[in-house]
Amino acid sequence: MTADSSPDGRLERALASLRGLAVGDALGSQYFVPVNYPLLKRRETPPGPWQWTDDTEMACSVVAVLAAHQRIDQDELARSFAVHHDFDRGYGPAVNRLLRLVREGGDWRELASALFNGQGSWGNGAAMRIAPLGAWYADDPEQATHQAEISAYPTHQHREAVVGAMAVAAAAALAADPAGPPTAEALLDGVIALVPKSAVGAGLRRARDMLDYADADTVAAVLGCGRRTTAHDTVPFALWSAARALGDYETAFWTTAQAGGDVDTTCAIVGGVVASGGKDGAPPEGWVEQTEALPDWAPGR
Ligand SMILES: [Mg+2]
Repeated sequence: MTADSSPDGRLERALASLRGLAVGDALGSQYFVPVNYPLLKRRETPPGPWQWTDDTEMACSVVAVLAAHQRIDQDELARSFAVHHDFDRGYGPAVNRLLRLVREGGDWRELASALFNGQGSWGNGAAMRIAPLGAWYADDPEQATHQAEISAYPTHQHREAVVGAMAVAAAAALAADPAGPPTAEALLDGVIALVPKSAVGAGLRRARDMLDYADADTVAAVLGCGRRTTAHDTVPFALWSAARALGDYETAFWTTAQAGGDVDTTCAIVGGVVASGGKDGAPPEGWVEQTEALPDWAPGR
């Protein structure tokens, strides 16, 4: 069975994934506040409202561009990132500066390729925003990786950042299988087959080998969980965690958050991938209610 490829069907899946991404981002970011550490240990949530961060803001731009153009238009995506950029949403310093310069008329092609001495950013920012695009292209996972690749360039041009985005999009596309969520092994095998050779790819193969580990802390120590905020230090663990809990948003969230690291981003990725499974992977209603509403300009508002 192939996923619905109509514009409405695609948008519906993308919005379900975006909701899961926003809840993961907003609730995950609560655990950067030291007073909430004990709650995280007990798997309890702090009182809302939970504010989402840059992960959700950028993901709204991705879905808005898809809804308007039925594909990724890089100039439109860069423009949307720049005009909706809210400095207080926890962006990294390089992207803060880049989006300000784009807003002032700068060319994203030159600015993004010049970052980090001309290597481009290898941060996890292209991956953190992309799960809804994977859900959009669930009828064509190869196209999901292709569109994710071109979506990365306006901000992240290093190979690892680009492949990180491709991997997350592939995972969200495969997780949205209308026949039901794939097994953990099938999900990671499918993603590995869709991404080029890279440190992210090597990390995914290691993640595949660790699917039977019960202890997420050990896996996070081996794979990384975003402490360095690079794509290769973030995506393999996030997809390990998502793969093992497709169809169970709460378990996926707690396993990911308790490992620590770049928690809003790992939980945004995991939330977006798991929720791309539709009803089966949706976040608890109570969590959706506590999460700050998406911005006025976001699709589906
Ligand atoms: Mg964030």
